[in-house]
Amino acid sequence: MGKMKNLKIDNLTVKAKDDGKIILKDFNLEIKSGEIHAIMGPNGTGKSTLTKVIMGDTNYEIVKGKTIYDGKNINKMKVSERAQLGIFLGMQMPMAIEGVSNADFLRSSLRAKEKDNFKLLPFVKEVDRYIKKLKMDPDMLNRSVNDGFSGGERKKNEILQMYVLKPDLILLDEIDSGLDVDSLKLVGESVMDYYEDKKPAILLVTHYQRLLDYIKPDYIHIMNEGKIVKSGDGSLASYIEKHGYENE
Ligand code: ADP
Ligand code: MG
Repeated sequence: MGKMKNLKIDNLTVKAKDDGKIILKDFNLEIKSGEIHAIMGPNGTGKSTLTKVIMGDTNYEIVKGKTIYDGKNINKMKVSERAQLGIFLGMQMPMAIEGVSNADFLRSSLRAKEKDNFKLLPFVKEVDRYIKKLKMDPDMLNRSVNDGFSGGERKKNEILQMYVLKPDLILLDEIDSGLDVDSLKLVGESVMDYYEDKKPAILLVTHYQRLLDYIKPDYIHIMNEGKIVKSGDGSLASYIEKHGYENE
């Protein structure tokens, strides 16, 4: 069972550093520990930016507002500090890191998070179990991170990182993209297994109802032009599937 750690985003306005474009506008969202929220919405409305800003991506500047996590304003915290607090981002387009093996990457990420509590043997055993569970090729541990991995393999690799790091706040940005139906089911069920076990807070970004067949959100938010324009329960997704975002 994860600790009770809630996220509260309070009137957050964010711009891109390179061109100064305002992407999130007076954005508000509260996610309590144990809740699953899904954000849907057209392309280019700031969904990925939201997840990256919560993780501390320095390509974005916070113009105003607060990001409160576990009672602290984390606006100025580095990515590594946020990871230590238990925040995890499964990215829409995970990058390849040449020359760093997947196993080394996982080990140093976990070591950085756990510090003196890190133990090698349980780590190795766990990774082994997760690799089997996710039906990944064990050789992927020896290869460079995401190097030559297919879109779907990269997504599974994000879930593997999630399992290893055991976060309390999980941000999953289009984790369903690039997955075939079997992998989608596997990934969806794996996220739910983790959820049942640890009861983290989860924020999913998705375009499709099909992911929500496996991961059942408590709340769905429709985002447009940098803010949430409509919120509802799980039934909002099927409404959107039928009617599109046009009237929102
Ligand atoms: P979504 O995930 O909803 O499709 P994004 O958050 O990726 O949208 O992008 C929202 C808008 O902000 C887009 O117009 C995108 O081009 C722009 N944007 C995102 N990141 C940056 C950046 N680092 N620099 C400049 N513009 C950006
Ligand atoms: Mg996106």
